[in-house]
Amino acid sequence: MERFVYQGTPTRVVFEWGALGKLPDELAKLGARRALILSTPEQRHLADHVADVLGERAAGVCAEAVMHVPVEVARAACATARDMDADCCIAIGGGSTIGLGKAIALESSLPILAVPTTYAGSEMTPIYGLTEGRLKRTGRDVRVLPRTVLYDPSLTLSLPAGISAASGVNALAHAVEALYADDANPVISLMAEESIRALSEALPVIVKTPGDRDMRSRALYGAWLAGTCLGAVSMALHHKLCHTLGGTFNLPHAQTHAAMLPHTAHYNHVAAPEALLRVARALGGREAAQAGPLLFALNEKLGISAALADIGMPYAGLDEAADIACKNPYANPRPIERTAIRALLEDAWEGRSPH
Ligand code: NAD
Repeated sequence: MERFVYQGTPTRVVFEWGALGKLPDELAKLGARRALILSTPEQRHLADHVADVLGERAAGVCAEAVMHVPVEVARAACATARDMDADCCIAIGGGSTIGLGKAIALESSLPILAVPTTYAGSEMTPIYGLTEGRLKRTGRDVRVLPRTVLYDPSLTLSLPAGISAASGVNALAHAVEALYADDANPVISLMAEESIRALSEALPVIVKTPGDRDMRSRALYGAWLAGTCLGAVSMALHHKLCHTLGGTFNLPHAQTHAAMLPHTAHYNHVAAPEALLRVARALGGREAAQAGPLLFALNEKLGISAALADIGMPYAGLDEAADIACKNPYANPRPIERTAIRALLEDAWEGRSPH
């Protein structure tokens, strides 16, 4: 038997159509009396609804979450939590909202109850991110891991087809990298493969029929698995490149993952043949070399733009991105070679299938 280390996370997960109705009970299980409810401005109606349902147990609503958790937004939200004397945060929304909850927890150790409404998976990880100026800093801290996660697929019905697809491929990226992680283990690899299967089956149906309840459930199930993978093992080249592109060039997070994933998977397929074979198999292929092209084909099926050029990446920034990606050494199956990384970025910028 191969050697491995596996550590489960203590997060309580409740997965059910309509699970939001269980929120008062779940909050009681946490022993919380004054919850600060977080959302983006666009999802304020959901936060207000939760506040109505909770009555006196709601300390207030902070609907200020935005992409990439700018430090100024995080500081203001921490002050709000203090002023309202909150003893818990309910983060209802996608990765941006859950990220804001994590920023508060990092400073105050307040427990988080997360109600994810996208497929990004942040709710299952002890990873936080904060953006200062053009640089995104990420870290791991067990204080930011949500105590309870309520997965209610009905809340994802309103997620527009485009965001569903992009955030679903963002989730896929966690599962793909988990399979060749430095610290991969058999339990997480099973979850990763199952996640790729579930997401790649559900997402093409969802973009055509966003109201398909079965596939909404299946996609959220795949996203839970993918988030668990992200929280449990380390990520490699793909995440390094996406953080560079998102933080330094302010590209949209999920679309960047989608545009890069076929290329980073292909970059690693010779060095990690078993992992990429599992990716290819979950996507209906038979060889490791098919993983990248199959992920590219999935993007096409989902109508996701394949080109970094289309999501705001300046061509002049490709050299800087390659430099940053090669600067600090990190684990990756294939050594990080500047020339090959620059060529990969060029392909991703043009929107060419990996070759
Ligand atoms: P997001 O949270 O930024 O949401 C995108 C938009 O969709 C927002 O306007 C939001 O209000 C809206 N939205 C969300 N759910 C909706 C729904 N069901 N119906 C209608 N609109 C909805 O996007 P995201 O992709 O979930 O998260 C991206 C962020 O999460 C990035 O900053 C990324 O770095 C972070 N992230 C962190 C981790 C982690 O482990 N720390 C993991 C994955 C992603």
